[in-house]
Order: sequence, then C-alpha cells, then structure tokens
Amino acid sequence: AKNRGKNTFQFYTADMNASAMARLKLEYGLHRALSREEFHVYYQPKVNLASGQLVGMEALVRWQHPELGMVSPVEFIPVAEESALIVPIGTHVLTEACRFTRQLQLEQGFAGRVAVNLSGRQLKFGNIVDTVRQVLDDTGLPAANLELEITESTAMDSDQEVGRALEGLRAMGITLSIDDFGTGYSSLAYLKRLPVQVLKIDRSFIAHLHEDKDDAAIASAVISMGRSLGLSIVAEGVELPAHRDFLREQGCHMAQGYLYGKPMPADAFRHYVQQFRVA
Ligand code: C2E
Ligand code: CA
Ligand code: CA
Ligand code: CA
Repeated sequence: AKNRGKNTFQFYTADMNASAMARLKLEYGLHRALSREEFHVYYQPKVNLASGQLVGMEALVRWQHPELGMVSPVEFIPVAEESALIVPIGTHVLTEACRFTRQLQLEQGFAGRVAVNLSGRQLKFGNIVDTVRQVLDDTGLPAANLELEITESTAMDSDQEVGRALEGLRAMGITLSIDDFGTGYSSLAYLKRLPVQVLKIDRSFIAHLHEDKDDAAIASAVISMGRSLGLSIVAEGVELPAHRDFLREQGCHMAQGYLYGKPMPADAFRHYVQQFRVA
C-alpha cells in the first residue's frame, strides 16, 4: 500500500470501517437475538415421490429482527459461523425442532423425521454428541425421528473430530444426510465410507432439469449411483410437476420444494400435517 496515493488509502480504510461496522452490528444483533428470542424455526415438508406421503420436514431458522424485519439465514449464518455463535444458535434450533416434532407425535401421531442443519463448527467444537443426546432426553424425541444435514464440504473435512462426531451420532441411531450434494468435489466412493444414509441433490441441478440436458444427466447419474450404494436420495428445490415426474421416473426417493410447500411457521406446519392426514 506504500505506493498508493493518500486519497486511495483513505477511501480504502473508510470502506473497511463501514463493512467492519456492519459486521459488528450484525454480530451484536445476533448475541441479543438469542436472549430476546428473535430466532424462529420454520418447517418445510419432504414427501415420498412414489407414494406422495409426507415423510418429514426440514427445520430452517429465521431471524425476526426488530428493525430489519426478517433476515435471511444466507446473510446471518456465515457471520454466526465465524463468530462461534452458531453453536448456541444451532442448539436453540435443534431443541425447538425436537420439541415441536415430539408435540406432533403426541398430538397427531406424526411418524416422520425432522431434519436439522448442522454447521462444521458445531461438529468440531460444539461437543455435539453430548448436546444431541441431552436435547433428545429433554424433549423425549426418539433418535429415529431425528436427521442431521451436513453440507458436502463439511462432510469432506478430513478433521478427525468431524469423523468421530459423525460416528457418535450414527451410533445413537440418528440419520445423517449430505446436503447440497454435487456442489463440492467429493466422490461417491468417499461418501460411502462415511456413516451417511441420505444424499440431498443440490437445488442448482434441479431448477433447470426440464430444459437443460446436462442438469438432467447429472441428476439421474447421482440418483442411480446413490441408489446402487444403498443411499436414500432427496431432491431439493422441486418446483414444477415436470421436476417431480422426471425425478420419480429416475427412482429418486424423496422431494422437497415449493411444489409441496414453502418453509412455514410451526402452526402452519401443524395444519399442513392435519390436511395430509385427511387427504
Ligand atoms: P439449505 O440447507 O440448502 O436449505 C434449503 C434452502 O432452499 C432453504 O433456504 C429453502 O427455503 C430453500 N428452498 C426450498 N425449496 C425451494 C424451492 O423449491 N425453490 C427455491 N428457490 N428455494 C427453495 P433458506 O431457508 O433461506 O436457508 C438457506 C440456507 O441457510 C440453508 O440452505 C442452510 O444452509 C442455512 N440454514 C438455514 N437454517 C439453518 C440452521 O438452523 N442451521 C444452519 N447451520 N444453517 C441453516
Ligand atoms: Ca439443509
Ligand atoms: Ca440443501
Ligand atoms: Ca442448497
């Protein structure tokens, strides 16, 4: 930066300060949000493609900010991950999701699985096996009704802590799934060595299935290879009947997307489950 003009340098630092301030504000807001209970959990249905039956749901966090309104997890999850706040936030989402699912079991005989997203930091530093055991104990939800989603890049992390955590969770009877599959660089052969049962094909391969031959080829290749390895396959971002029909034909097991329902608050999901039962 020595040979840069004075003005350029000032401009640069002012810029840094502005973004650092925004970051700090967001981080401070996140701290406050936990104690003020501004985080809410939404639920998005997952259905069996062959039968059309509801098989479970994914829990997705929402931040109801007092001034900014609804803040997307795409904006605050990365900040939470860098600041380690993802650990308490993640535990909050897990607890809420397990409590709600247990309620659905008791009230409506709901037999599905709830899937909760885990970030790499939770697996490395969060004492995750003990946390999950404690939450299942506290809420009364059986391990068989819990699924944990880990992104492909986290799963490929060679860190021994991650491998140990996954083994520990699997030993408890929890289902593990690889999220956003296809966006990383993993091979299915490597995946097979992980204690994982479900593969979620990333939305980016599903969105243009009906108009892009390459995307269709990738999706069907992932389905057939995943199936031959004994994995359960979920397609995310299913928006059109054409997506559904193609995926069903290719032998994809489950689907999630706006075609079936957007992520919704707990009360709305309760009604969704009721409708499914009478339909
Ligand atoms: P994800 O785990 O891949 O979740 C799926 C995202 O796709 C959700 O976005 C969902 O609303 C969206 N989606 C589902 N179906 C459709 C569809 O048919 N069309 C379109 N266009 N989008 C669809 P959302 O809720 O904004 O979450 C974004 C990401 O934030 C998640 O991606 C996940 O990586 C992260 N996230 C959300 N909640 C949590 C959480 O509790 N913990 C952690 N660690 N990450 C979370
Ligand atoms: Ca997910
Ligand atoms: Ca995903
Ligand atoms: Ca995704």
